[in-house]
Amino acid sequence: MEFNYSQKVKNLQARLKGFMEEHIYPSEAQIQQDIDQGGPFSYSMKIEDLKQKARAEGLWNLFLPKSHGGTLTNLEYAPLCEIMGGVTWAPEVFNCSAPDTGNMEVLVRYGTDEQKKQWLEPLLDGKIRSCFAMTEPGVASSDATNIQASIKRDGNEYVINGRKWFSSGAPDPRCKLFIFMGKTDQDNPDRHKQQSMILVPLESKGVTVIRPLPVFGFDALDRVSEVKFENVRVPVSNILLGEGRGFEIAQGRLGPGRVHHCMRLIGLAERSLESMCRRTMKRVAFGKPISEQTVTLERIAESRILIEQARLLVLKAAYMMDTVGNKVAKAEIAMIKVAAPNMACRVIDWAIQAHGGAGVINDFGLARAYANARMLRIADGPDEVHRNQIGRLELKKYL
Ligand SMILES: Cc1cc2nc3c(=O)[nH]c(=O)nc-3n(C[C@H](O)[C@H](O)[C@H](O)COP(=O)(O)OP(=O)(O)OC[C@H]3O[C@@H](n4cnc5c(N)ncnc54)[C@H](O)[C@@H]3O)c2cc1C
Repeated sequence: MEFNYSQKVKNLQARLKGFMEEHIYPSEAQIQQDIDQGGPFSYSMKIEDLKQKARAEGLWNLFLPKSHGGTLTNLEYAPLCEIMGGVTWAPEVFNCSAPDTGNMEVLVRYGTDEQKKQWLEPLLDGKIRSCFAMTEPGVASSDATNIQASIKRDGNEYVINGRKWFSSGAPDPRCKLFIFMGKTDQDNPDRHKQQSMILVPLESKGVTVIRPLPVFGFDALDRVSEVKFENVRVPVSNILLGEGRGFEIAQGRLGPGRVHHCMRLIGLAERSLESMCRRTMKRVAFGKPISEQTVTLERIAESRILIEQARLLVLKAAYMMDTVGNKVAKAEIAMIKVAAPNMACRVIDWAIQAHGGAGVINDFGLARAYANARMLRIADGPDEVHRNQIGRLELKKYL
């Protein structure tokens, strides 16, 4: 494995850092305030303006893998995604934010030409946003075979019923599409063939966004919401890949989506560590800078070690995805999905502690950063489920 980034990646890193310094960091606090005040049913026009600038500079859709029409491999994208991830709202500026990137990859991989024209093109253009609706309030959704929503064929249409929650992005007025998971064949003896995925326009009759769900009290963090689907009718051509193929798509979708989250978290942990260093170097307590209190120095050192470890594992997972495919890379993807959020929680928690009271208010963004990292120990599969998978793969070696 080559540890040096290619010249192409170094150039993109420099351009992206330049963009962050010129356009993102100076407006970081202001835009965050707009997002918080606007709430989940709103969006920032300033982000829309920045999107035009990023696109004009060619810093657009960098997430799209080379194998599927993009210009970068996963390995090349990782250090760039990390830079964007340093500010929680920044990935959207580059059209590289969740859940759109995962949804776009689904459409690229599994969409028909017609589906791509209708939904993928406006998503790649950053004109609309999208939502992934799998999790349900009524069942333990970390086991996706439990999903109960129904997708029933009726002539040339499918009729959809069910209740979803934690559907990220649904209240955003720009969100126009759900990728919806439900059961087309409840009685199939193979529980992994019961589910399908289908495209549901948000404006369909019978779709109701019931309520936004604040995450750790942050109204607009991830814009998660509860949504009701009541006798929603869509044409049969909206099915993705075919009936009973929902799990197959979920595997394809969650691989890159998970790794992108981890790449962003490394950027967030880096910025939290930077903030911890800067703040503790200038605050003096009991006769010396807080940075020189042994416990702080230890935590700074340990944070650096943890970040470097996580970065290497992210790069390895990305390298495996590029070289042997997402399926064979499943252990690495699962490992990083456990390692990165836990690392980020630890580093951000130490940064909060080092800031004293200032760590838990909004001035330094650390409380939001922590909420972001903590929720990623659950979203896209809880730690325990990934550890179970890693454990089983380990045991399999000795069968
Ligand atoms: C901020 C946020 C954003 C999200 N965005 C989306 C989205 O856009 N679309 C979407 O569909 N979903 C989304 N989710 C939902 C997320 O994927 C689910 O919350 C997750 O899969 C867990 O499902 P559950 O909440 O039903 O927990 P449950 O399945 O009820 O599990 C509860 C707990 O049980 C434990 N557990 C479960 N299985 C095992 C096991 N095998 N061994 C040991 N312990 C176990 C774990 O600790 C787990 O946290 C989001 C969640 C959050 C928090």
